[in-house]
Amino acid sequence: MSGAVLLERERLTSGTTWHTAGLLWQLRPSDVEVELLAHTRRVVSRELEEETGLHTGWIQNGGLFIASNRQRLDEYKRLMSLGKVYGVESHVLSPAETKTLYPLMNVDDLYGTLYVPHDGTMDPAGTCTTLARAASARGAQVIENCPVTGIRVWTDDFGVRRVAGVETQHGSIQTPCVVNCAGVWASAVGRMAGVKVPLVAMHHAYVVTERIEGIQNMPNVRDHDASVYLRLQGDALSVGGYEANPIFWEEAVKYRPRAAGGLCLKTSTEKVCAVWSDDLRRA
Ligand SMILES: Cc1cc2nc3c(=O)[nH]c(=O)nc-3n(C[C@H](O)[C@H](O)[C@H](O)COP(=O)(O)OP(=O)(O)OC[C@H]3O[C@@H](n4cnc5c(N)ncnc54)[C@H](O)[C@@H]3O)c2cc1C
Repeated sequence: MSGAVLLERERLTSGTTWHTAGLLWQLRPSDVEVELLAHTRRVVSRELEEETGLHTGWIQNGGLFIASNRQRLDEYKRLMSLGKVYGVESHVLSPAETKTLYPLMNVDDLYGTLYVPHDGTMDPAGTCTTLARAASARGAQVIENCPVTGIRVWTDDFGVRRVAGVETQHGSIQTPCVVNCAGVWASAVGRMAGVKVPLVAMHHAYVVTERIEGIQNMPNVRDHDASVYLRLQGDALSVGGYEANPIFWEEAVKYRPRAAGGLCLKTSTEKVCAVWSDDLRRA
């Protein structure tokens, strides 16, 4: 990592990461994803803390997938088998067992659930701070308030465009290698090097509830058929969903996180209700 420089236009986490729910579900249908998630979980829940002495803010409150139909339950049974191969503990629960685990949940229309006790929630600020500390200790540099304003390129004898350096308001850095990790602004950074990054931002709504008695220590919940997630947030819930007809937000790239008060847009009650009608039924 020695010699790596991270240039951040504002402050670390000021982009999308600031908003993230930080849900870590270990079981996914692809074995590559299962391995990647296991690695991420190891790093965030143990290794970073051992290396830096800092707590990343990881909370192991478990994860619960809801099956609203028989096919979904069959899929969860397959996920449980996949988990066994990779050493991920999980349990398929009946509606009654789910009610015992999560007394506040309405389980009347459930076929069952998949419970993964070692899933959990990442804290974006804590994880980034700890990652930055570990990277700095290994010789990397993190420079905040330093926007990339240009990328110098040259063309080699075979006609291939190559990177020569990065320009900032405070000077330039010579390098043959740039990693574009500018999130929703990646297309703008790509354009600096003549590269098209096929990425479009979409509106995403979430709501944080008031305190709910009895919600403490409950697992995060994901309902794939209703396209919603419930994230434990202290003694409240953060509820988000994936719209069936997503609204593209092409101007997102023009927003500076701080100037816009974070990447925030106002949403309407109608939009939120359209996404969460299924979810409200669950409560
Ligand atoms: C409500 C919500 C919930 C989510 N929940 C989950 C979840 O549960 N699990 C999950 O895995 N993911 C989740 N995500 C997705 C996840 O948050 C994002 O994929 C992730 O945060 C993206 O991180 P990033 O570093 O790629 O981008 P960002 O965090 O946006 O970082 C990009 C950075 O680039 C900087 N930048 C831009 N232009 C320049 C420039 N010219 N020079 C220098 N710096 C520049 C910006 O300031 C910014 O800090 C969620 C997202 C949202 C909005």
